[in-house]
Amino acid sequence: MRADLSGQTWAVYGLARSGLSALRFLARSGAEILAWDDAAAAREAAVAAVPDVRLADPMQADLAGLDGLVVSPGVPLNRHPLAARARAAGVAIVGDIELFQRARATLPAHRLVGITGTNGKSTTTALLHHLLASAGQWARLGGNIGLPILDQPPLPAGGTYVLELSSFQIDLSQTVAADIAILTNVTPDHLDRYAGIEAYAASKARLFAMQVSGQAPGQARGSRAIVATDDAFTRAIAAQLPPAVCLTPVSFADVTAHDQARWPALPGPHNAQNIACAVAAARLLGVSEPALEQGLQSFPGLPHRMEQVASIGGVRFVNDSKATNPTSVAPALQAYADVHWILGGQAKTQELDACLPHLQHVKAAYTIGEAAGLFADILRMRVPVAVSGTLERAVAEAAAAAEPGDTVLLSPACASFDQFRDFEARGQAFRAAVEGLRP
Ligand code: ADP
Repeated sequence: MRADLSGQTWAVYGLARSGLSALRFLARSGAEILAWDDAAAAREAAVAAVPDVRLADPMQADLAGLDGLVVSPGVPLNRHPLAARARAAGVAIVGDIELFQRARATLPAHRLVGITGTNGKSTTTALLHHLLASAGQWARLGGNIGLPILDQPPLPAGGTYVLELSSFQIDLSQTVAADIAILTNVTPDHLDRYAGIEAYAASKARLFAMQVSGQAPGQARGSRAIVATDDAFTRAIAAQLPPAVCLTPVSFADVTAHDQARWPALPGPHNAQNIACAVAAARLLGVSEPALEQGLQSFPGLPHRMEQVASIGGVRFVNDSKATNPTSVAPALQAYADVHWILGGQAKTQELDACLPHLQHVKAAYTIGEAAGLFADILRMRVPVAVSGTLERAVAEAAAAAEPGDTVLLSPACASFDQFRDFEARGQAFRAAVEGLRP
């Protein structure tokens, strides 16, 4: 994938996976590039990838005249001084999705679906991609999931790009005009990066604003919004869409339990919401009803989301490492009867309110990581708690206590970065610890 950026000068700050992908894209697109990462090894990787890149720290360099500054979504722009420097120089700060938008003019005719929400983004994105692909359409998965979209080859004419978009990726976009924009839900998350929940919700709402502002005047007609209007924030966003955007409201209640029973990888009310969103989009994109049914049945599910990794001595072990906030844990607690719940890590909230109504399903809790003490204090009066500290110890303690028919569930309600590289590494560590229990 490439854009036409010849004669332009861009800077890239942060040279990990998405930064390197942006760097290569800018080089292919003919731009001059300044790049920086505080880690020397990352700078070396950048020079190896693009030999004529100029290494310069944008915190020192003159930013005036740059056509754009690409920043990794991991840089907290609400606190980082680079944001003010770029603003003073009048330079837009962008991410890889905005670069993808710049490439769209060079791509064969296609459609773009952007999917956001606090929870369910990956599932909805993967499900929609699967529904399109299994119906025989060309479709590409990217954004916050899978391979960086800029590294993927363009689709033939008539294809659909299905992109998962975190709020940070939306914040780093100015003109990303999705043909179909989907919002699953809004609940408290990432409050370290936003002034409050309203600011976080406003970040999600920009996906719909860009459907109009990102286009030439008059071209937004035909843009569609699919919003699951199951919470107050999404209802407010749906009520204030730009007039040119046509709304399809959906709800978890659109999907009957009777229908859902046929789709093995999509259990629970939370997945009913994801199904409602993905199916509405697939219908707009022309997937027939028999193909939809077939796709829902054959969807394999995603790893680290309520993924059963083993059954040992009648005890089920479930990896839900992707559940990084209390709201996303709630469905997992509801799904099983006698749960040994492993939770903790780097807390994103100081409470577990969304989980508390489901504690009758919890036989015991095992807390790990930085939040071990905090969560033990919240739970201690309600269920038996062990402060296990590490994931390995928690698995051993939970397995020792579990009886046939029970479920040992890793559903941490926390980010992983205090003890793991990311939620995937945490899920793999859980799987390895479980495998280690086999006689
Ligand atoms: P995201 O990409 O938004 O983090 P995922 O689809 O990866 O979402 O799911 C993350 C976690 O959230 C999983 O543990 C899953 O059980 C839970 N979850 C998925 N969809 C929803 C939803 N619509 N509402 C609440 N929780 C959800």
